[in-house]
Amino acid sequence: MMLVPYHEEMTREILNPHFSPRALEIVIAANLKQDSWSGLIGHDGFHYDNDLEKGNRYIIEQRGYVIATLMSRGILSAWIAFGRLTHTAQDFYSHTNYISMWLAQYESAPPPPPEVDPVQKNILRSPDLHAGKIYLPLDALYFIPALRKLSLKLLPRDSHGHMNLDSPQQGPNFAYARAAAAKRTLYEFELLQKLLSPEMFARFVDK
Ligand SMILES: [Zn+2]
Repeated sequence: MMLVPYHEEMTREILNPHFSPRALEIVIAANLKQDSWSGLIGHDGFHYDNDLEKGNRYIIEQRGYVIATLMSRGILSAWIAFGRLTHTAQDFYSHTNYISMWLAQYESAPPPPPEVDPVQKNILRSPDLHAGKIYLPLDALYFIPALRKLSLKLLPRDSHGHMNLDSPQQGPNFAYARAAAAKRTLYEFELLQKLLSPEMFARFVDK
């Protein structure tokens, strides 16, 4: 759950030039809905919590729904599936160690955040890449501001509490996570553009 305003702002900024207003609003609503309480509990794949493979699989499945919906001449489910896909793709950078691994390859000063590569193959395939683990109840107490310090003292280094880059409060790496998430959103859109026939793509963007 990168904080809701960041999901909304980056999805809007990246996709606004490509979708009709009504399509865009549905994509954004489906993205944000993943962080409602019903989407947080028991849905590790939605947010790259605990398990890298579940997140990867969820993205592939939602991409499949986009294509299958457009093949059957539907449209609403394609927008919803794409909104869900963008949420998970964005959370990847705030809930895994991808950004620390990307930064670690530079010995001195790393390039600025806009130059981050969101899909560097050797990092994506590395056995060192992992998702932050949710330790209950401490990782829930982490979300209560008064208990955050205490929960961090007790949580291990591989916990969501220690690893997350959900907001600027988490330090300078947040800017990299945000930039990577925005670039990945465009990457996912362009990937669908390649996969869809021109007719299906025109219906998808609704323009
Ligand atoms: Zn999330």
